[in-house]
Amino acid sequence: MLREETRSVQVGNLTIGGNNHVVIQSMCNTKTKNVEATIKQINALEQAGCELVRVAVFDKEDAYAIKEIKKGIHIPLVADIHFDYKLALAAIEAGVDGLRLNPGNIGDEKKVRYLADVLKERKIPIRIGVNTGSLEKDLKNLNPADALVESAKRHIKILENAGFFDIIVSLKSSDVRTSVAAARRFSKEFDYPLHLGVTEAGTFERGIIKNTAGLSPLLLDGIGDTIRISLTADPVEEVIAGRMLLKSLGLNDDSEVIACPTCARTEIPLFELATKVEKMLAGTKGLKVAVMGCVVNGVGEGEKADFGIAGGKEKSVIFEKGKITKTIDNSLIFDEINALIAKYKAQNEKI
Ligand code: SF4
Repeated sequence: MLREETRSVQVGNLTIGGNNHVVIQSMCNTKTKNVEATIKQINALEQAGCELVRVAVFDKEDAYAIKEIKKGIHIPLVADIHFDYKLALAAIEAGVDGLRLNPGNIGDEKKVRYLADVLKERKIPIRIGVNTGSLEKDLKNLNPADALVESAKRHIKILENAGFFDIIVSLKSSDVRTSVAAARRFSKEFDYPLHLGVTEAGTFERGIIKNTAGLSPLLLDGIGDTIRISLTADPVEEVIAGRMLLKSLGLNDDSEVIACPTCARTEIPLFELATKVEKMLAGTKGLKVAVMGCVVNGVGEGEKADFGIAGGKEKSVIFEKGKITKTIDNSLIFDEINALIAKYKAQNEKI
């Protein structure tokens, strides 16, 4: 898929923008000063496929905690800081890999220039994150998408005037159309990498639908270098949803389960089976596994899969590349799928 050409920005060992893959990120909901809990959550996020993580820094204690957190994690860490440039300096001192900070909120050109110099020296980028909820008062009479872009422009200008260009930008709204319009407008004018997300999207199902509606049109147009699926849920769910979205759009090579929607012909407990196979495939790449409810249509409908199962009353059939290879007792379904995952993984590793 063609991607909009953006400049590359380094965040720790991760490159965002340019021709790089779309990076999945999330944010901790632990107290940052609770080092143990934060490390635990970041490692769980990494395990789920998170590549970049953000923590909120409210005070010096949070900023100092970054030093200890960094010792226990493997993915780049971004500190989310509002207003206080001294907190930014403390986070940098503690070894943070990136800042999320709007320079317009610092309010003093000299301080911004000083911060920019320190960041340049340490090769640390800034994400400018504008949000419809915190726009400058004088922009509130513009249409919301224009207001987001205009606000981002102001923050960018401040950094560019300080000679700083390692910038990533996000323009977020809880309204899908506004988020999409703002990102489209921005990407026509700037080549800074874009972080996409629909903010305050809501609880699990609604949040996933809203984010998918907001992110898909952009990602399909090649816009967006990093994403967060904001959910009012465990952040690990954000990462899983992000991976599934990228997979659905052909933007990663995660394995996937194709499962039929079930109907009166369904012979096996398909929901349970498909969910379990999905878990079995977690962390594998490039496999397509079909889990179908009946033999009548299942094999044909699942022919694009590497392999699959089509359920029967007591016995089910296993098929590979659309051809039936075996009939097995239903009690052996998971053993058989496990063996096939191992076989195909080994084949893929040889290629
Ligand atoms: Fe129904 Fe069989 Fe199609 Fe599943 S594969 S939806 S059970 S006909």
